[in-house]
Amino acid sequence: MGKKHAEERKPSRAKTPTFLLELPLVADAGQAARLGGHLEVGRQFYNAVLSAGQRRLRRMRADPAWQAARAIPRTQRQERRAVFSALRERYGFSEYAFHELAKGLRVSWLAEHLDAVLAQTLASRAYRALNRVCLGKARRVRFKSRGRGLSSIENKRKDTGMRFVLEPRAEGRPQGCLLWHDEKLRALIDWDDPVVAHGLAHEVKYARLVRRRASSPRAQGADSEGERYFVQLALAGTPLQKPKHAVGSQTIGLDLGPSSIAIVPREAEARLEPLCAELRPDARAIRRLQRKMERQRRAANPEHYDEKGRAKKRGKGAPRWKQSRGYQATRRRKATRERRLAAHRKSLHGRLVHQIVAVGHTIVTEKISYKGWQKRYGRSVGLRAPGMLIDQLKRTVASTGGTLHEVPTRSTKLSQYCHGCGQTVNKPLWQRWHQCACGIGSVQRDLYSAFLAAYLDPADPIPSCARYVVPWEGAEARLRAAHERATQRAKEGQVMPRSMGIPRAGARLPKSRGEATQELLFLSRRGKVEAWKHRSEPPELELGESSGKVSTPPPF
Ligand SMILES: [Zn+2]
Repeated sequence: MGKKHAEERKPSRAKTPTFLLELPLVADAGQAARLGGHLEVGRQFYNAVLSAGQRRLRRMRADPAWQAARAIPRTQRQERRAVFSALRERYGFSEYAFHELAKGLRVSWLAEHLDAVLAQTLASRAYRALNRVCLGKARRVRFKSRGRGLSSIENKRKDTGMRFVLEPRAEGRPQGCLLWHDEKLRALIDWDDPVVAHGLAHEVKYARLVRRRASSPRAQGADSEGERYFVQLALAGTPLQKPKHAVGSQTIGLDLGPSSIAIVPREAEARLEPLCAELRPDARAIRRLQRKMERQRRAANPEHYDEKGRAKKRGKGAPRWKQSRGYQATRRRKATRERRLAAHRKSLHGRLVHQIVAVGHTIVTEKISYKGWQKRYGRSVGLRAPGMLIDQLKRTVASTGGTLHEVPTRSTKLSQYCHGCGQTVNKPLWQRWHQCACGIGSVQRDLYSAFLAAYLDPADPIPSCARYVVPWEGAEARLRAAHERATQRAKEGQVMPRSMGIPRAGARLPKSRGEATQELLFLSRRGKVEAWKHRSEPPELELGESSGKVSTPPPF
C-alpha cells in the first residue's frame, strides 16, 4: 500500500545536505525601487496569510475538542496525535492548507509582483510562525510593519521565478546574476575567495533575496534608502572545510557561569576566564545608542508622555508615534552595531571552542537551564550567550568524534558538594570560595566544580568521595595556579566578573573625577548611596566594591 502511495506523490525531494553562500548584489536606483515594490507586496501578502491563519488557529483552539485533546495524557501518543491532526485538518491549519489559502489570496495585481512559488514559501513561513504559537514555543506572531518591511523572500526551485544564473563571458570568469521578473541583478563575486569558489562549484537548489539596512544611505553599495541587497544561494553539498584543527584526548570538566567559565582538564593546565570580555565596549556603545533613540523618541512625540515624563497608556485610536530622521539614522547605526556584535561574539565563541577542543574532546558539564539564567542575569546572558557557546561546543566536539556530557544539576549538585566529607552545603551566590571544615580548600568555587565535573562518570553522574582522593592531590595546585593567573590579569587591568572572586583591581581608584561621579550616580540609582555615605573608610578606596558583596580570598 505504501508503495502505491509513494509513486503517486511527486518524487519527494531527498534530504541532501545544504549550505549557504551569500553574495552582494548591485542594484541601480530603478532596480532598487522595483525590488522594494515587490518586497512591499510580499510583505502585505505575508501579513494577509498570517492574519487569516491566525483566525484559523483561534477558531481551532476555541473548539471544545481542542481542550479535550489537550487532556489526553502524553503517554497515549498515538491517540493524542490522531485527535490533534484531525482538528488541524478540520480547521485548515497545516502547511498544505496554507498553500491553498495562499492560492486564494494571490489574485489580480498581487500576482504580477509575486510568483506562485514565492507566494507559497511566504505561506509556509506564516504557517511555521503560527505553528510555533500553536505548539507553545512562541507567545505570538509578528506582523511585518511597513517601516521595517519584509527583509527576505525566497524561491524553492531553481528553474522558474527568482533564480541565480552564472553566465560565461568571452574573457575572464563567469558573471553571476539574480533574475527576477524582468530584473537582472549583478552579483559581486570574488573568485579568489576559496569559500566563494567552492560554493559556486556546487549545484544551486534555490535562491533567496535578502535586503539589509545599511548603517547609512552613503554606505558602500547602498541605494538611496540605505538598503543593500544580497543573494543567498542554497547549495547542494557541504561547505568548504577549513584545515582541521588539532584535537586533544583529555577529559575536561567545565563550569559555565553567566559571565565566566572554568575549564579543568584531568591533566593539563586549568583556566578561569571571563566569558567574551571583549564584547563589553560593543555592548556599551549599543546601550548609548539605545538611550539616544529614547531621547529622540521623546523629543519627537511629546504628546505620548504625561507631565511627569511617563509614557501614556495607549488605547485604540491613539496618535501614531513619529520617527524623526535622526531617530531613523540612530536606529540604523544601532542595527549595524548589533550585527557587528553578533559576529564578534561568534568569533570569540569559535576561538574558545577550538582552544577547549585542542585539549580534549570528552567534556563533562552540568546541564544548565538557560531560561532560568535569562531571567536572573538577562543582560549578561543576552550579551555572552553561554547557551550558544555550549551548542557550538557540542557540535564541534561531535564532529571530532568526542562527546559533550551534560549531567543533571539536580543529582550532581557540584556547586554544593565537598569531596572531602561528601556533604552538600548550599553556598550563597556571593560566596566565591569552597572551604570546608574537613580541610578541603580554599579553592575558587567555579574551578572546584569544574574539577569535580572532570572526574565524574557521565554514565553515573553521582559524585563520590573515593573518586576524588587521588586526583585532588595533583589538581589542587593547578586550580590555585589558574586563579592566580586570573588575579594577575585583573591586576594588569583586565576587568573580571564579580563571580570569579577577584576584587576589582581596576575599580579601586577612579582614574578621573568624572568616573567617580558616574559611579556615584550608578549607586544612587540602586539606592545604595546611603550605605556608602555611612562608611568610615575613605570612599575612593571602596567604590568598586560597595555595590555588591565580594568575598575576598582567604589567605592560602
Ligand atoms: Zn568537606
